[in-house]
Amino acid sequence: MLTLTKVRVIYQIFFMALFIFFMVVTNLAFMKGYPVSWFLELDPLVGLATTIATGSLYKGLAWGLLLVLITTLFGRVFCNWICPLGILHHFFGWILDGRNTRQKIDSNRFHRWYNLKYYLLVLLLVMAAFRTLQIGWLDPIPFLTRSFTAAVLPAWDLLVDGMIRILPPAEPVLGKLHTSVEPRVAHWGFLIGAIFVLFLVLNRVIPRFWCRVLCPLGALLGFVQAQPVADPSRTRQVHRLRPVPRVLPGRVRSALALAQERVLCLHELRGRLPL
Ligand code: SF4
Repeated sequence: MLTLTKVRVIYQIFFMALFIFFMVVTNLAFMKGYPVSWFLELDPLVGLATTIATGSLYKGLAWGLLLVLITTLFGRVFCNWICPLGILHHFFGWILDGRNTRQKIDSNRFHRWYNLKYYLLVLLLVMAAFRTLQIGWLDPIPFLTRSFTAAVLPAWDLLVDGMIRILPPAEPVLGKLHTSVEPRVAHWGFLIGAIFVLFLVLNRVIPRFWCRVLCPLGALLGFVQAQPVADPSRTRQVHRLRPVPRVLPGRVRSALALAQERVLCLHELRGRLPL
């Protein structure tokens, strides 16, 4: 059965593949007029910060207004379905996940320092007001673009070179896997790649660390997203979330804890969706 989760995964694969495609065809050898800057133009934080810093909105960046409208009406569609960096963190959070149910519940609890992303957002916008546009350090699209062009794609090409050295007869086939005709040279590529990998690995400690703690675009979308109407019965439900009795076997305790969380989630969904 095609569940909502499966549909979302299909969309995530599509948008991740689209991002990688745009990264590859940005190379002069493959350039054919594809709209390679679409993800950047869709990013409302890039549009907002650029407008604050320059006093004018470049017309391509107006795509961001559409995303703001969608977020206002339907919530964080971009985070859940489109954002390539969010998709990567989602994926690595999933494959690096070694927690049991109780640990999962604990690691998903809110911490006050998750508010850091809001302070970063304000700081970056204030800097933009003083004509210092530094959004590119932490905005997910420039961050991921930089990581791909300076580290991921050069590393991929080196890997292809290595395979060709091991299997010279396969060069005609393997050579087609190169993402660049000329060898890519990226200053500080190793450092940029190490930072990229570090944030992926941090998903092992805190799922979607980047999204929860650092992402200024996520903070901006959080401000503009459709807010659920306060639901007093949810508060009662939270208080009903009791510790599971320790005398029960571990598996039963885990199942009970998971069931409690699911009831809460269902309750939340009922409050948010026009069911
Ligand atoms: S929080 Fe940021 S990085 Fe995470 S999915 Fe949303 S926009 Fe992307």
